[in-house]
Amino acid sequence: MPHAVGSTDSADGLNAVAQRPQETGHPTEGGALDSLVAAEQSLAAETGEVAQEAHSRIVEQQRIEAAEAAARAEREAKRWLLPVDDYRITAGFGAGGSMWSNRHTGLDFAAPTGTEVRSLSSGEIIFAGYDGPYGNKIVIRHWDGTETWYCHLSRFVLRSGEVAPGEVIGRVGSTGNSTGPHLHLEVHPDGGDPVNPRSWLEEQGVNV
Ligand SMILES: [Zn+2]
Repeated sequence: MPHAVGSTDSADGLNAVAQRPQETGHPTEGGALDSLVAAEQSLAAETGEVAQEAHSRIVEQQRIEAAEAAARAEREAKRWLLPVDDYRITAGFGAGGSMWSNRHTGLDFAAPTGTEVRSLSSGEIIFAGYDGPYGNKIVIRHWDGTETWYCHLSRFVLRSGEVAPGEVIGRVGSTGNSTGPHLHLEVHPDGGDPVNPRSWLEEQGVNV
């Protein structure tokens, strides 16, 4: 029985030998396989590159959108606008008269008591209080260093902090040296001497 098993083993051994040429043939098949693997790797690499390119495009698009949003936000923050919506100009800058100790240092926007008074642009309220002839007064220092004064207010809506362009800061009134409800607006570039608010606003593209 062991012999029979042995002969069977021999037969298997022959078969194994007979199969060797096929095995030696494998390198050829292996070459094809290698090519296939290489092709797959190349495809995977290309797919990776495509994915990388798509990712790069998304990142670039996100960068562009973020930059555009930042530019929009900056334009919005640096916008200038009028302090009241409906008004009548009753006294210009430099006007003379018994109302002023010297010359008129601002521009008067006549409007009903309680009309909303808005910040000309973004900035910070640096003063809110009663100031003699100016009555209830708010001073805002804007992003470019310009200071604007809002005088004769009947009410303060805000007294401190940051403000956005057009944010309501108070209400039109007639406090201080005033004969009727109006907003006395002054513009002080860099916090210095007052300039003509009308021409200054027009330089910012705002027509009074
Ligand atoms: Zn005035």
